[in-house]
Amino acid sequence: SSIGYTDNPIPEPDWKPGAPVPFLALANTLERLEQTTKRLEHIHMMCDFFRTVITRTPSDLTSCVYLCSNMIFEPYKGIELGVGDGIISQALQDSTGKKLDEIKRLVHEYGDLGLVAERCRNTQRTLFPPPPLTCDHVFKKFREIAQMSGNKSTDQKKKLINSLYSSCKQCETRFITRMLQGALRANLGIKTVLSALANACVCTPPDGKIVAPFSLEDAQTRMERAWSETSSFERMIAALTKGGFEALDTDCIITPGIPIIAMLAKPTKSVTDALQKVSGQTATECTCEYKYDGQRAQFHFPGGNKPPSIYSRNSEDLTGRFPDALQYVMNGRKFPEKSFILDSEIVAVDPSTKEILPFQILTQRPRKDVKIESIKVPVCVFAFDMLFFDGRSLLNCTLRERRQILRDNFAETQNTFRYAIGEDLSDEDEIAALLDRSVKDKCEGLMVKSLDSVYESGRSSSWAKLKKDYMDTTGDTVDLVPIGGYIGKGKRTGVYGGFLMACYDQEDGEYQTVCKVGTGFSEADLEKFSKALTDLSIGEDELKRMNPRFKFAFSEDPRVKPDVWFEPKLVWELKGADYSVSPLHKSARQFTHTGEGISLRFPRFMRDRSDEKGPRDASSSEFIRDLYESQANKQGAMKARKKMS
Ligand code: ATP
Repeated sequence: SSIGYTDNPIPEPDWKPGAPVPFLALANTLERLEQTTKRLEHIHMMCDFFRTVITRTPSDLTSCVYLCSNMIFEPYKGIELGVGDGIISQALQDSTGKKLDEIKRLVHEYGDLGLVAERCRNTQRTLFPPPPLTCDHVFKKFREIAQMSGNKSTDQKKKLINSLYSSCKQCETRFITRMLQGALRANLGIKTVLSALANACVCTPPDGKIVAPFSLEDAQTRMERAWSETSSFERMIAALTKGGFEALDTDCIITPGIPIIAMLAKPTKSVTDALQKVSGQTATECTCEYKYDGQRAQFHFPGGNKPPSIYSRNSEDLTGRFPDALQYVMNGRKFPEKSFILDSEIVAVDPSTKEILPFQILTQRPRKDVKIESIKVPVCVFAFDMLFFDGRSLLNCTLRERRQILRDNFAETQNTFRYAIGEDLSDEDEIAALLDRSVKDKCEGLMVKSLDSVYESGRSSSWAKLKKDYMDTTGDTVDLVPIGGYIGKGKRTGVYGGFLMACYDQEDGEYQTVCKVGTGFSEADLEKFSKALTDLSIGEDELKRMNPRFKFAFSEDPRVKPDVWFEPKLVWELKGADYSVSPLHKSARQFTHTGEGISLRFPRFMRDRSDEKGPRDASSSEFIRDLYESQANKQGAMKARKKMS
């Protein structure tokens, strides 16, 4: 039905109200999910499962939601399972008696350790069957594994995995294995989980109070907002249980010390295009700021004696990496006791000339435990936004108001803490002149922002990025994932000669091909990548199976079909000439009428971004569609101008 509840019974096994949720109920739901690629059906199935959990065992809802999101703790805590395929295979060997070589051979044949684990387990007989696994138990064990450290931790982790394996039945082994690998989300992105949870909580409110019917869209928006401000299912479910969606709005709000999902810009390739995107329909006033080439940084200070912290664009804790930047921001305060969250870019500067240096210099800094005395390349913080001040959320204030609060409460210090340079402009020529100046001052271009817009997590049309380098080409670079390789010939014998590159479709958890790339690589790059990618190669048979670990959308045409497939892991920045609709590629295929994809023409490798971005952070298919559309807009405008002249 339209409310997202199918009234289908959730798959076996059944369980009594109040009893712990059997892990098999979740595993069976995930198995059903694998049979379809349709996102709406995923939402419906998960919604059914969550509703049953809320009705029978609401206390298990948190562990169930975490498990199906394949998360152990809030992402910003940076606590991962730390379990590689090696440990899993050894645990499998210990619990099934299958030799490691045999497991390796089977992985090669099946292309998925989860299926191999399931096959190994199913042939085992146990005299005294252990009690069935429950979601809560599995989740607690995962948390224990993630928190193990020290030199004995590998053995301890293996033991725990072993004990989980010995209780597994049917498809449970497959999903435990994939959860351990962190590869479950391929079919179930965070957006799908949040939508399913929102739908479930509207239909079956966890606080037991039937709310006046309100739209599912509204419920999903509220759920997404709470997630973007807390990144915590624990907090969200506690609030929903206490007082439904109303409590979500009061209890799950921005808090200093917890990173908020950053606001991002849409790509554009001309001043006209940027202005149209940002102020087009609403004719709001814009500000144009220098676009610095550094590290996005959210500075958090809870106030009083509490420690301040810094977070990256991906909620990674940067506090230990930039102690100098932290000091500069704290020194900039006019009211030292007041809490705040400030958004900014940290940029490397030349120690003698104080000129801005490229991003690559910043990446040479160690990742943690940096001592101020040993810093070789100093930084400057360019502040551009204020999300929270003196105990109050500013997210619903306009940028004009937020910027004023930033300027009223923080003072600039030459070369260490500054407001992002910018001007409030609407004249295209003036913006073009500022763009030129930004490039002369060693910036990448401009950020064009609506002054009347609120702070929105994720990519928003209220911000546009305008990069000078790419204005005459594609307007922006893209970050793509190599998913296939072509065996090198001639000078490139022994390495891959080219790669099949894909974007990531967040909605469907699908890697969709965008182009083949073979230029821009140094010999050293090719050697390094060929080695890394050979370790990631996967069998063709896995892609053909009903339930591969990752979904690839590609054309079978021999002109683009690669010789070898790779597990998605690396992320490379590519620059090209333009975009075209092509039957040879599949990116953004859900947005084209014909089902054909958008492809990047004449692509060139720029740099490896695998350190900063995971494969799911690669450019999304929506992003590629936006690039294609902004190019089409520009071409349209040029044609119109030609006609007029
Ligand atoms: P995105 O962050 O948009 O996903 P990306 O990681 O590839 O893309 P870019 O396209 O290079 O990064 O640019 C966006 C980034 O520019 C922001 O995330 C931020 O780190 C940086 N930036 C620099 N100056 C500003 C500014 N004045 N306002 C906002 N962001 C800025």
